[in-house]
Amino acid sequence: MAINKTRVAVIGSGPAGLTSALYTSRGQYDTVVFVGKLLGGQISTTHEVENFPGFPDGTTGPELVEAMRAQAEKFGTKYVYDIVTEVDFSKGSPFYIKTDGGEEWLADAVIVTIGANPRELHVPGEKEYVGRGVSYCATCDGFFFRGKEIIVVGGGDSALQESLFLTKFASKVTVVHRRDELRAGVSLQERAFKDPKIDFIWDTVVEEIKSDANGVVTSATLRNVKTNEAYDKPVDGVFIFIGYDPNSDVFNGQLATDAAGYVLIDQLYRTNVEGVFAAGEIHDSVFRQAITAAGDGCAAALTTIKWLQDREDQLQPLDNVMVEAGD
Ligand code: NAP
Repeated sequence: MAINKTRVAVIGSGPAGLTSALYTSRGQYDTVVFVGKLLGGQISTTHEVENFPGFPDGTTGPELVEAMRAQAEKFGTKYVYDIVTEVDFSKGSPFYIKTDGGEEWLADAVIVTIGANPRELHVPGEKEYVGRGVSYCATCDGFFFRGKEIIVVGGGDSALQESLFLTKFASKVTVVHRRDELRAGVSLQERAFKDPKIDFIWDTVVEEIKSDANGVVTSATLRNVKTNEAYDKPVDGVFIFIGYDPNSDVFNGQLATDAAGYVLIDQLYRTNVEGVFAAGEIHDSVFRQAITAAGDGCAAALTTIKWLQDREDQLQPLDNVMVEAGD
């Protein structure tokens, strides 16, 4: 079976991936997006999006993703609704890509945009009530908790920074940490300890998140790990900041990453492999916004286009595509 070919493979379909694809396909380079588990990635699971510019009345994650998908498609982007299970970047361009659907591709350039996932607690109620009181993003959801009581789970920099941010909205923020010592930096700790709206519950884990009949969060079951005492704490929201995991496993040994697994890029979004670029949360552990990911995707695509233009005379014809891309 002949291998499918494309000029540009975009691995991942969040705002970074779909924006990359829009730019490369509009730049007249055949582009295939490998969608992954969920078209749109994390933003697809966000109900209300109020901070993506251009939508004065807000939009929803799924609507935003569908608009981005259709816009890239209009310029010729094709979609493969598979998960990439294997890549070979070792021989240089064209790069080999294989999917869980058994498709094999060669791409002259690759833009890696498969993001990172917030770590989950894996307790009952957590998955069920995302968007109804459970959140992994203070910037996205804090606004919906004006005057409400929330807990923040975690003891690192994210937990404290987001707790401080959430005091703008919530009437009370209680940080629930599994130890009696924070991992966060000293200055964040000092600010959080001084804040009259922030309280701490130490040596405590969340065992369950409960809701009312409408599926809206009303309480969390907490357990003190030293005394083993368990009790229900009434809360309107549970914000979980216990770290993030970049989805870089499939590139192990091929792309350089930092100790946490974030792909390393230079100012022009180039990875350590010439012809492979990265954008969005797969490299960004700081901003994590749909709009910054989209901006990243645009920048990575512009570098990709320039890189392809510079080697136009070496590009082979895309003549033996055997499988129709699409869903
Ligand atoms: P992190 O530093 O890995 O901290 C995760 C926190 O969650 C830890 O306190 C950990 O507890 C707790 N935790 C982990 N798994 C848990 C579980 N299953 N149940 C309950 N608690 C759990 O993650 P992060 O705060 O997201 O920070 C990630 C990186 O970004 C860090 O390098 C951080 O410095 C950086 N960052 C920096 C800033 C800043 O500079 N302002 C802001 C945000 C993030 P233990 O402490 O007991 O392990």
